[in-house]
This record gives sequence, structure tokens and C-alpha cells, in this order.
Amino acid sequence: MQEERTESQLIIADWKSNGQKNLAANKIFLKRLSQKKIELSQTLAIHEEVFEKINCLDCGNCCKTAHPIFTKTDVARISDFVGMKISLFENQYLKSDAEGDLVPNQLPCPFLNTDNTCQVYEVRPKSCRSFPHTHSKEGWERNNLLTKNTITCPAAFRIVEKMRTGRG
Ligand code: SF4
Ligand code: SF4
Repeated sequence: MQEERTESQLIIADWKSNGQKNLAANKIFLKRLSQKKIELSQTLAIHEEVFEKINCLDCGNCCKTAHPIFTKTDVARISDFVGMKISLFENQYLKSDAEGDLVPNQLPCPFLNTDNTCQVYEVRPKSCRSFPHTHSKEGWERNNLLTKNTITCPAAFRIVEKMRTGRG
């Protein structure tokens, strides 16, 4: 007998089926929304509702496919946590991207475990903490980034879909 899927697994399956399919509609919606006054209380309520349902350990897609920025402050904190010199840490795990920012030198991120937990979770980069940026006004204003996040992140997809259609 097939096991019943959890709500988290259903959200991820829905994103796999519809994330790319609904990209154009979500892009137009997010562009229009960014030109209006964004009601943060509404977006925040939906953000919290979706993140209560989804279990990031079922997914891990951001850590597998995105390149989070490691600021100098992040590097100092994380290298201290893992007990490495900053220069060694940077050489071993990071590279500069086209904009000159430090990002992981491989994907999936070298700190991702096979069970989707993060080896440096307590001290992870600020950009990992704030991903997919649906909790902040700035996130909704950066409509191109948020559009991209709907095809990277099942939670971002569900949040935007719910804002756009009222369903979900
Ligand atoms: S540092 Fe941790 S949370 Fe950030 S991408 Fe790597 S594994 Fe994921
Ligand atoms: S992509 Fe989104 S849902 Fe998946 S682990 Fe990252 S934040 Fe969680």
C-alpha cells in the first residue's frame, strides 16, 4: 500500500508540476505587485503559513542549486565555528562570482549533508537565513529575484501562488 504524502511533500510535488508552468503568470503578477504599495502584514501571514507546512529537510533545493553570498562577516563567523583559518576556509570552500562576491565553489553547497541538514546551520550565512526573501518588503520589491525563487523554492512558489490566486 502506498504511503500517504505529507502536506510538505504535496507542496513540493505541486511546485515540481507547476513552478515552471506558472512562471510567466507569476512574473507578471510580481512585477505589478512591486509597483504597488506592498501590504507586508498580508505577505508575512502567508509566508508564515506556508513555512509552517513545508519541511525544508524534504527539499534542500536552495542548497543544491543556488549560490548564497558569503560576506566577510559570514566567513569570519563560520570559519571560527569550523575551527579553520579564514584564508584556508576561503580556499577550500569558496570562489568569487562574476560580481566579485564570495560563493560556494561547488554545488550542492559543501556544507549540505545528505539528509538536507546544514553542517553550519547555527552560523549559516545571512543570505541563507533570509532565503527566499518572502518575509521582507525588500524581497517583494525585488520582483525579478522573487520570480526566480519561484522556480528554485517550493515555499516561495506556494506563497506567490497564494498571493496571486488566493488559493492554496
Ligand atoms: S551554508 Fe548551509 S544553509 Fe547555506 S547553502 Fe550551504 S548548506 Fe544550505
Ligand atoms: S528551496 Fe525553499 S523550501 Fe526548499 S529547502 Fe530551500 S527554503 Fe526550504
